[in-house]
Amino acid sequence: MILPRTLRPVVGLFIAFLLALGVPVVASAAPENVRVVTYDAGQSAEFRDAVDAGAKVWNDNVQNVKFEPANGGAADVVVLADDGWPRTEMRGLGEGTVWMGRQAVNEGHDTIRIAAHELGHILGLPDNRTGVCEDLMSGASAGPTCTNSKPNPDEIAEVERNFADGVRMAPRLFTEDVLALR
Ligand SMILES: [Zn+2]
Repeated sequence: MILPRTLRPVVGLFIAFLLALGVPVVASAAPENVRVVTYDAGQSAEFRDAVDAGAKVWNDNVQNVKFEPANGGAADVVVLADDGWPRTEMRGLGEGTVWMGRQAVNEGHDTIRIAAHELGHILGLPDNRTGVCEDLMSGASAGPTCTNSKPNPDEIAEVERNFADGVRMAPRLFTEDVLALR
């Protein structure tokens, strides 16, 4: 806010007056607490729409963190495509590299579920291979017929806690080729 020099002390006094009364000067502090995680899907080839959809799934389900497309500069998350199994190299909470692997897609796994699952690793969730389709982090263990891309309530709560507490996470590689290794 640009104010004429003569008005500045007046405005300052007014704000001091409001603070003395206990009137909240900032209407809502909540949006400032949301951690924005930028992602670059520009190198994810045919999976770009699925990556956007996977990011939207999280944006629709959690409050404390928000994925936004990176506008130039370095993104917190870079999404790539290759012919292997999907995987995520998490460098820390909200940072890393995701590979949208074509091998899983060729075996029939849903691309939006893959994207949401891998972004779940970026948000600090580990694999939980229950074979249950309602669990997003069950990943490929739920089989290729599972197209659920929504996190379950426990997964949502864990992400909210991670970002509310700003937990520090050690770098970790999550690979999805569990079925191939059997
Ligand atoms: Zn995984």
